[in-house]
Amino acid sequence: MKKPFAKLLLFSLLAALLSVTGFARKHEDVQNISNRKVSGKIFGIFPNLVSLEKEMSLGQQVAAEFEQTAKLVEDPVVLEYIDRIGQNIVKHSDAKVPFYIKVVDTDEVNAFAFPGGYFYVNKGLVLAADNEAELAGVMAHEISHVAARHATARMSKGQYLQFMTIPALFVGGYWAQMAIQNGLGMGLNLELMGITRDSEREADQLGIQYLWNSGYDPNAFVSFFEKLQEQEKNKPGKLAGFFRTHPSTDDRIIASLNEQRFLTEKDNYIINTSEFDRVKARLQSIDNAQKSEESNTSKEQKRPTLKRRTEDGTPDPNDTGGDDSSAPKKSRPTLKRPSDPADSNPKP
Ligand SMILES: [Zn+2]
Repeated sequence: MKKPFAKLLLFSLLAALLSVTGFARKHEDVQNISNRKVSGKIFGIFPNLVSLEKEMSLGQQVAAEFEQTAKLVEDPVVLEYIDRIGQNIVKHSDAKVPFYIKVVDTDEVNAFAFPGGYFYVNKGLVLAADNEAELAGVMAHEISHVAARHATARMSKGQYLQFMTIPALFVGGYWAQMAIQNGLGMGLNLELMGITRDSEREADQLGIQYLWNSGYDPNAFVSFFEKLQEQEKNKPGKLAGFFRTHPSTDDRIIASLNEQRFLTEKDNYIINTSEFDRVKARLQSIDNAQKSEESNTSKEQKRPTLKRRTEDGTPDPNDTGGDDSSAPKKSRPTLKRPSDPADSNPKP
C-alpha cells in the first residue's frame, strides 16, 4: 500500500511545484527568439513522448479530417494575404515546423492551430479585427501553442500519468484503488486544469513576444481582447470561439501587460496597413454575396418543399428545395444526415 501513496505524494509535490514555477517569467531571452527551445520538459523533467516528425504527421491527419467537414475560403487574394501575415510571424517565432495556413469560411471569431503547424484562421476573426495588429495578435498566440508543442505535451502528460497509475491499481488492492480514484480523480482534474491555464499563460507570453518581434504593437493582443469582451457585454451571444475559450481574465491581462515591460520599445510599430483594409473589405463583400445568395435560396426553398414527395408519401430526403429534378430519387428515405460542421470545430 505504501507505493501508491508515495506516488500520490509525488503528484501533489509536482503539481505544487508546477503552480509555483508557473508564476516565474520564462522565455526571458527575447533577443534570441527563433534560436530558443520553448517546448518545455513534461512535469519539468520528462521528455515529450512525441517526436517532431510524428507531431507533423499527426497534425496532417487531424487537419485532413477537419477539412472534410470545414468550408474553406478559396479566394486567392485573401489566402495569400493571411498566409503572408502568418508566415512572417512564424519566421519571427520559435516554431520549428513549417506552417500551412488556411481560412475557414465561418462567422465564428476564432483561429486554431493543430500540432505540426496546420493553422486555420476563421473569416469571423478577420472581420472582427479592426486592424492588422489585432489579427496578428491572435495568430501569434496560436503560433505559440505550436511552437511550445502544447498539444503533444498534453498527450505526453496523459501517457506519463497512465504509466504511473496503472501499476498502482494492480498492486494496491481495494482501498488503495479507492484512494487513487478519489485522490487522483480530483488531483488529475486540477492538474489538467492547471496545465491548460499554464499553457494559455505561456501562449500569451510567447504570442506577445512574437507580435513585438514581427514589428507589431505588442499591446494589440490585449486591447483586441478587451474590446471584444466589451462588445460581448453589450451584445451577448455574438462572440464565440476564441474569446469564449480564452476569457480575458484579470490575471491574463496583468501577465500580458507585465510581459510588455520586458520588450524594448521600438520607434515604430505596425498597427494597420492599407492592405488589411482592402482584404477585409474584399472578404466582407464575399461574405455579403454569399449570405444574400443563401437567403435567396432559403426563400425559394419555402415554396416547393411541401409539394415534392416520394411515391410512398414521405418527403423526399434528397429534396433540397432547389431545382434538382435531375437528382436520382431514392426508393427508401435514409436517416443519414450531413454532420454539422459546427460540432466538429475543435477547441483552440
Ligand atoms: Zn490559447
